[in-house]
Amino acid sequence: DKIRLGIIYGGKSSEHEVSLRTALSIMKAVDANKYEVTPIYVQLDGTWVKGDAFAEQVPQNIDTLRLASGDPAKKSDSLFDIAQQVDVIFPVVHGPNGEDGTIQGLLELVNLPYVGTGVMASAVGMDKWMMKTVFAQAGLPQVKYVGFLRSQWEKGPEEVAETIERELGYPCFVKPANMGSSVGISKAKNRAELVTAINLAARFDRRLIVEEFVSVRELEIGVLGNEELVTSVVGEIIAAKEFYDYEAKYKGAGTELSIPAVVPAHVAEGISDIAKKAFQALDGSGLSRVDFFWDEKNDQLYINEVNTMPGFTPFSMYPMLFQAAGVGYSELIDRLVQLAIERHADKQ
Ligand code: ADP
Ligand code: MG
Ligand code: MG
Repeated sequence: DKIRLGIIYGGKSSEHEVSLRTALSIMKAVDANKYEVTPIYVQLDGTWVKGDAFAEQVPQNIDTLRLASGDPAKKSDSLFDIAQQVDVIFPVVHGPNGEDGTIQGLLELVNLPYVGTGVMASAVGMDKWMMKTVFAQAGLPQVKYVGFLRSQWEKGPEEVAETIERELGYPCFVKPANMGSSVGISKAKNRAELVTAINLAARFDRRLIVEEFVSVRELEIGVLGNEELVTSVVGEIIAAKEFYDYEAKYKGAGTELSIPAVVPAHVAEGISDIAKKAFQALDGSGLSRVDFFWDEKNDQLYINEVNTMPGFTPFSMYPMLFQAAGVGYSELIDRLVQLAIERHADKQ
C-alpha cells in the first residue's frame, strides 16, 4: 500500500517562498510507487487550502503549486477532514506558526504522525532565548548573551543598555528571540547603533536577546534520528557579506557552501558531539540542523542554534550535508517519514 503523505507548506511567514521551493522539491523527489502526495497549502494570509487538483498529479512548478491550490473558489477541508485522508504529514513551514510547535500541536490533536520535532522541541528551538537557557543547562559552550523583554527596554532603556555594555561590550548582535532567516537582526558598534538595533528587533518580537560578537567561521551539521542519532558531515558557510543575512541565505548573494568543511578532525568530532547533546537537550526528533561558530584562532567552538525545520530543497545545507554522508535526497525523505511513524507509535 502506498503511504498517503500530506505536505503542509507555505505559511504566514517571511520564509513562505523557501517553503514553496521545499514542498515542490519533496513532491518531485518522492517515489510515486511508494507515496500518494496531498499538497496542503497555507496561504500568506494564513488560510489553509488543499490542492485537490494535485491529489494524483504532482505540480510542475511553484506557480501551479501556489495559484492552482490557492484558488479561493475551492473550499478547503478542515484539518480533521484532511487527517482522514493522509497517513503522515511532512510540515515544511518555516519560522513562527510553522516550526515553532503550533502546527505540531495541531497534528498532535488530530493524532497524525508528522516529520520532525514535536511541540516542545519545536517551540524551544524557535525561541533563541529559551534555547540558550536549555543549552546552558546542558553545559554546552555558547557566546555570552543578555535576554530581556521589550517592556523592560521601553521602561528602562538606559539600564538595559548599561547591562549589555557591562556584560558584552561592543560590537554585539541584537536579535528578536522568535524569528529566523536573520530577520530583524543587526550588529551594533556603539550606543547609538544599539538603540537602533533594539528598536528594530522589538518590531518583530517582545522577547529580545543581545550576544557578544564573535569573529568566527560558521559551521553546520545535520542530525537525523529520534533517540538513536546519526550526524552528517560538517559544512561551512562562507558569506561574502558581513553576516549571513536573509539576502545571502535565500538569494544566494555571494554565499558559498563548503561541504565537507575543511576543519581539523577534532573540530568535526566536537561539532557532532555537541550537536547530538543539543538535540537531546531539546528532546528533538526526526531532523535538525545545528549551527556553530568556530573561533579558529583560539580553537573554541560555540553552539549558535538548532533549526528544527531547516531549509530542505536538494540544494539546501541539510540535505547536502547528508548527501555528502551518503544519504541521498529521496532516501532522506523515506527515513524521515519512517522516523515520524516510529515516533508516533512510540508515544502511544
Ligand atoms: P537566524 O535564526 O535568523 O539564522 P542567527 O542567530 O543564526 O539567526 O544569526 C544569523 C547570522 O548572523 C549568523 O549566521 C551569523 O552570520 C551572524 N551572527 C549571529 N550571531 C552572531 C554573533 N554572536 N557573532 C557574530 N556573528 C553572528
Ligand atoms: Mg535560525
Ligand atoms: Mg542561523
